[in-house]
Amino acid sequence: MKMQSRRDFIRKTGLSLGAVTLSSGISILPGACRPDKQLGIALVGLGGYATHHLAPALLACQYCRLRGIVTGTPTKVADWKEKYQLSDANIYNYQNFDRIASNKDIDIVYIALPNSMHAEYTIRAARAGKHVICEKPMATSAADCEKMIRACEAAGVKLQIGYRLFYEPHHLEMKRLGQGKVYGPVKVVEAALSFNALGWDNWRFQRQYAGGGPLMDVGIYCLEGARYVFGEEPVAVTAQTFKTYPEKFKNIEETLFWQMEFPGGGASNCSTSYVANSDYLFVSAKDGKFGLSPAFGYQIGGGYVNNQPLAFPERGMEQTAQMDAFALNVMENTPVVASGEQGLQDLRIIEAIYKAMETGQKVRLAG
Ligand code: NAD
Repeated sequence: MKMQSRRDFIRKTGLSLGAVTLSSGISILPGACRPDKQLGIALVGLGGYATHHLAPALLACQYCRLRGIVTGTPTKVADWKEKYQLSDANIYNYQNFDRIASNKDIDIVYIALPNSMHAEYTIRAARAGKHVICEKPMATSAADCEKMIRACEAAGVKLQIGYRLFYEPHHLEMKRLGQGKVYGPVKVVEAALSFNALGWDNWRFQRQYAGGGPLMDVGIYCLEGARYVFGEEPVAVTAQTFKTYPEKFKNIEETLFWQMEFPGGGASNCSTSYVANSDYLFVSAKDGKFGLSPAFGYQIGGGYVNNQPLAFPERGMEQTAQMDAFALNVMENTPVVASGEQGLQDLRIIEAIYKAMETGQKVRLAG
């Protein structure tokens, strides 16, 4: 089987060594013009994602670096201080967090808290005059997303949602193949992301913290995959839910299938679950098919086009690309790709999916 060459990949995606414009529209300036500054980031919430993904990814960033932390667990402070060389003045807890307003070391606050806390901390960070990266899902309701966008606009700060895949080469290529109609118009997208969470017991299983079940947590990636491969917004959704452990999943869905209809006539079928294992994106266009498997987790690979494997150049962590892109957006005052509007649109669709799940009816969206 013929592997796609690095040169082919670069030519097709618009990525090049001199760096230019990624197919997402992210513009990376040539070395000589790049800012020689690193913005300071403070991580809020030192849980699994901040500890094992964001902080390590920041070590490789060119345009930003970890300068502060906000934590409610004092026992974590010593380790973080030593590992990332943080000064005492840049350590906050949830009570004194607002004092970060006067801290010149911190330009960007990164919210990695349980979903229900995203709105409050994004708004507090914006009011403190800091640019904000907020983890996905942006909030637990579309109404909260709107408040967050308004707070950032009022404060004159930029907002990015932690959609790492918006900056990941495999996904940029899927988006290019789909939106560019390289194999004709896309007809069907199928996507799934599930993991077995039966042994877990944390905020993810409580509706008041999570806002929902696996759709809020991981299914959101499938929803986005369909949106950016089509390059259209869904106009209607249907959904079906199944439960085999009602005592564990009392207030949230356990397994969910949902379908989205797109204005060009195409459709997607996606699934997400806390009791299964799945991770793929499959796209069927008029004249060809392409996809990724695994697609959305931390081990993205297995790209193919018409049964031929797609090879991608060596890459760093997508979180590094995501945070560097945001730091450049701030320094160059350019639009954010993974914007608050993207996060809001996902929440609008998620609310429609939950309504369809609860009523068994097709729910129409503004499109
Ligand atoms: P986690 O449970 O590992 O960490 C949550 C952190 O919040 C902990 O440090 C905890 O102490 C703190 N916290 C503060 N107040 C809390 C409260 N009242 N209840 C519970 N915890 C509280 O979770 P995580 O996996 O790090 O997820 C954090 C956020 O990051 C979530 O919004 C999640 O969706 C998102 N996330 C994103 C990705 C991604 O790929 N973009 C991956 C994992 C998680």
